[in-house]
Amino acid sequence: MGLESHLHGDNLIVSSVNTVVNWARKNSVWPCTFGLACCALEMMATMMPHYDMARFGAEVFRPSPRQSDLLIVAGTVTMKMAPQVKRVYDQMAEPKWVIAMGACACAGGQFRSYAVLQGVDKIIPVDIYVPGCPPRMETLLASLMTLQEKIKTERVDMRQDSSELSA
Ligand code: SF4
Repeated sequence: MGLESHLHGDNLIVSSVNTVVNWARKNSVWPCTFGLACCALEMMATMMPHYDMARFGAEVFRPSPRQSDLLIVAGTVTMKMAPQVKRVYDQMAEPKWVIAMGACACAGGQFRSYAVLQGVDKIIPVDIYVPGCPPRMETLLASLMTLQEKIKTERVDMRQDSSELSA
C-alpha cells in the first residue's frame, strides 16, 4: 500500500520545512565536473552503468560551479591548483558540500612535498573524507549516502562558514 492510498479525499500532510527541504536537497545533489588526478577516473567510473550513481539522485555532473552543490575533490591538490579549487568552491551557490576523495585530497597522500597541499580542508570545509589510494567506486557511493544522511539532519538556515579558510 503506497502513500497515494492515503491521499484521496481532503487529507493533509503536515511536516517541517527542514524535513521537506532537506528531503529535496539530499535527493537532488548536483556534483561539479572537476577532477584533479587519478582519483578522478574512479569518480567517473562511479557514474558509469555498473555503479550508476544516478540511482541516488546525483545524476547530473554540472559544467559550471554555479549550477553545482557538491564538490568532489578527486585527486592530488597541488599548490598550483589550490587557488583554483578554492575559486570553484567559492563560486558554488549555497548550500554546498564537499567530499575529499582519496588519500591525496584528505591529507596529501604519499606526497609529503612542498608542492602538494596536505589536505584540501586547509582551504575549504570538508563534509566527508574518503580514504584510499584510490578509493573504490563503492566507497564513493557510500560517502554520497553518508552525505545524504548528513544533509537530512541540517537546519536549512544554517551552513558552515568557510570565510576563515583561504588558499
Ligand atoms: S589518492 Fe592515490 S589514486 Fe587518488 S589521486 Fe592520490 S595517488 Fe592518485
